[in-house]
Amino acid sequence: MRRLMPLVPKSMVKLFAKPYVAGDTLEKGIEAARTLLEERGILTSLDLLAEETRSSGEAEQFLQVYHRMVDACAAFPDPATRPTVSIKPSSFTTQPMNGTGGHQAPGSDRAIREIAEHAREKDVRLTIDMEDRHWTDWTLEIIRALHRDRFTGVGAVLQTRLQRTESDLRNLPEALRVRIVIGIYREPAEVAISDKKEMKERMLRGAEYLLKKGHFVEFATHDEEYVRRFLEEVVPAAGAGGDRYEVQMIYGVPRKKFQDLLVAGKIGTQGAVRVRVYVPFATSWDHAIAYCRRRLIENPSMASAVAKNLGRILLGR
Ligand SMILES: Cc1cc2nc3c(=O)[nH]c(=O)nc-3n(C[C@H](O)[C@H](O)[C@H](O)COP(=O)(O)OP(=O)(O)OC[C@H]3O[C@@H](n4cnc5c(N)ncnc54)[C@H](O)[C@@H]3O)c2cc1C
Repeated sequence: MRRLMPLVPKSMVKLFAKPYVAGDTLEKGIEAARTLLEERGILTSLDLLAEETRSSGEAEQFLQVYHRMVDACAAFPDPATRPTVSIKPSSFTTQPMNGTGGHQAPGSDRAIREIAEHAREKDVRLTIDMEDRHWTDWTLEIIRALHRDRFTGVGAVLQTRLQRTESDLRNLPEALRVRIVIGIYREPAEVAISDKKEMKERMLRGAEYLLKKGHFVEFATHDEEYVRRFLEEVVPAAGAGGDRYEVQMIYGVPRKKFQDLLVAGKIGTQGAVRVRVYVPFATSWDHAIAYCRRRLIENPSMASAVAKNLGRILLGR
């Protein structure tokens, strides 16, 4: 895949990417968020496709787009249903993270703090996405520092494929909002497991632990069986009310019927479930295409799901 992917023409990658990208402007991302909320009662988190930044000028441009995202989210009148902003620390630095701890991403911590200040002022919640293992220490450190400074609207992501996550779970700031995922990045056997079922079992166990400790849990998976088990087993076992968790999925992954059942309260035992869709948008199709190429290289197992999804769309199903 690593060798083949650069040879695939842009037009082809764009065809595959299109269902997953709300558009090539912030306005298109916001439009998708508004439609999901107004037509289906679905909440959203906006994601700027900006990674592997090539220059400090580009990092500065991304920073400005994040500021515009905060303003656009704040324009939704109800703070409870306005979109949140998901943020990728690697958008702000051209330096690769080498994972030895400390601050090797100059620019990223300053930018994140600046956006967090703006978001706090505008009552917009922020989630700092988790990138590959080299970023984990740094990302958790910055989240801890922000919480010490009372940026309580900032949330984190934990990846259950990583062995370290069990101990990370126990060392989080109180009441932190946590998105729990299996993790998209392929990681070496020394630090991660490769059995997907076990990753998802760990999501259930991790979610129960977090709910019992008073965290807000964002259960992020497209696996309907595990969403059901989260709602039918974990939530009652933790004694958590419907205001303590939500289910999250990614834009374009074909789960409309299931999401509508969740919102209608037909799944689980506590009535309507909050569903949030992660809405990626880019500032140009070139960025979106580069992002999709990287994801398919990192995670070739996604290719068949993406191809099936495209097939369904082309066949009008
Ligand atoms: C809201 C949200 C935010 C996320 N944030 C992060 C993050 O910050 N860091 C991180 O490392 N990972 C993140 N992820 C990705 C996550 O770690 C998983 O890689 C991803 O969700 C796929 O795993 P799954 O649990 O859905 O299970 P899978 O077993 O991969 O998928 C379950 C089912 O959904 C289908 N499916 C999954 N993806 C697609 C697709 N693209 N197109 C069509 N069908 C598909 C599969 O075919 C399968 O049937 C996020 C995921 C979500 C939903």
